Amino acid sequence: MNVAELETQVISAQKAGKLPFFVNATVGTTILGAFDPLPEIADICERHKLWLHVDGAWGGSILMSKKHRHLLDGIYRANSFTWNPHKLLGVPLQCSAFLLREKGHLQSCNAMHADYLFQKDKNYDISYDTGDKAIQCGRHNDIFKFWLMWRAKGEKGFGDHIDRMFELGEYLRSLIKGREGFKFVLEKGECTNVCFWYIPARLRDMPEGHEKNAELHKVASRIKAKVSTRPTLRLSPRIVRYQDELLLQ
Ligand SMILES: *Cc1c(COP(=O)(O)O)cnc(C)c1O
Repeated sequence: MNVAELETQVISAQKAGKLPFFVNATVGTTILGAFDPLPEIADICERHKLWLHVDGAWGGSILMSKKHRHLLDGIYRANSFTWNPHKLLGVPLQCSAFLLREKGHLQSCNAMHADYLFQKDKNYDISYDTGDKAIQCGRHNDIFKFWLMWRAKGEKGFGDHIDRMFELGEYLRSLIKGREGFKFVLEKGECTNVCFWYIPARLRDMPEGHEKNAELHKVASRIKAKVSTRPTLRLSPRIVRYQDELLLQ
């Protein structure tokens, strides 16, 4: 996010009589793995009384790693935060968390008080019956498998897992760097994402431009088709070994 532009846009919307109220920052964008600068964005939100939501669907799990959690510095200033443990932490689909800073919002927004579901005549503390707080009622239980995994692996286990993901990202980078026919989209990524082009031999000497880009766009889908239709490639964890067989000319 271009932070200076954010404030300019907020002010010009206010001047036009509109009421901006919500800013969505992202920690770990889906493709490039980019992180928005939370402290600067939070300052703007405080100045203009805007709700700050942070989309951590991809990058939120990095909080588990002592080594890499600095990428989310300032996260405590968010009003709300989404996070998908089913992505970087490998929890089986689906497992998504929506966290809010202030208590009570989930209940007041979502409670339907369906008395045929949430009966009050229980012999235990019914504040533990949290189904009425959840956006999707029964899916609330999706978090249970994450709780079990957390008990089994511990914070250290999850932290090590994240650190390993970053190491693998670096390893992939090192394999691609300087290799003929490969070009990074971003030379230095912030997250585990590694985005690159494979440039077939026939396109390597072609001048940059529209025509070359159009040809390049066809390459990834053809490689994907090969990966997903050849059993030997699909089963191999070391796809890199098969590159000569895999790549297109
Ligand atoms: C995956 C992803 C989403 C979508 O998450 P769902 O829980 O599947 O809706 C949103 N934002 C980012 C950055 C993502 O990577």
